[in-house]
Amino acid sequence: MRKKIVAGNWKMNKDVIGAQQLMSDLLNYTRENKPSCEVWIAPPALYLMMAKDLYENNEVGVFAQDISIHDSGAYTGEISAEMLESIEADGSIIGHSERRQYHGETDALCFEKIKKALAKNLTPIYCNGETLEQRKAGKHLEVVQEQTENALFGLTAEEVKKVIIAYEPVWAIGTGETATPEQAQEIHAHIRKVLASKFGEEVAQSISILYGGSVKPDNAKEIFSQKDIDGGLIGGAALKIEDFSKVIEGFNA
Ligand code: PEP
Repeated sequence: MRKKIVAGNWKMNKDVIGAQQLMSDLLNYTRENKPSCEVWIAPPALYLMMAKDLYENNEVGVFAQDISIHDSGAYTGEISAEMLESIEADGSIIGHSERRQYHGETDALCFEKIKKALAKNLTPIYCNGETLEQRKAGKHLEVVQEQTENALFGLTAEEVKKVIIAYEPVWAIGTGETATPEQAQEIHAHIRKVLASKFGEEVAQSISILYGGSVKPDNAKEIFSQKDIDGGLIGGAALKIEDFSKVIEGFNA
């Protein structure tokens, strides 16, 4: 059985008071409601230790939003896999489209980052997805296939099984535009087919593939009901407990 996951990407939002509040609201929510999926958050790095202290029984998974390809040294502003391991973080988002867009991250760099994460037993959430131009040109399957191959085909089958993939069409992130459940399902099934071609059907069937891009309380249930969609990576709707809890409940129906 593949893991079902709802993960919140907080991006660069919340001051310390706001972060504390949302983290403890989420703890109360998970205690009272026993969600039927795993609940993860990726707050700004500054708040990761606070989250680990609060979720002492791992009620909520704690993820970084990025990870360095370097082990240590003169890399101002970066956080290494070893540092994340030392605070017992659960993993890291890798290759988010905002990292690709604003920091020039490539699939090859993502591969290096995924290797660093796996070497420290951290779960990588590898993001891919096409731009609007690529979709309009009918290249979406091809683009996502290439991103999947470039970042994951250098792994062993044992390694790739530990990766979570998040398909996030760039045109749907933070725009209010959501891929239809059918559009998302088409890509998820394709990613699984691509994985199966390299690693075999059993491995491909074991990997959780999340959808991200304007998932909200009113569309979560329909998106999560698709055969190859194993949950969501949630941006805007992860910033308020009222919304995030309803997205999590998209799995309860
Ligand atoms: C994201 O940034 O990963 C994301 C899916 O954002 P939003 O839900 O706001 O579109």
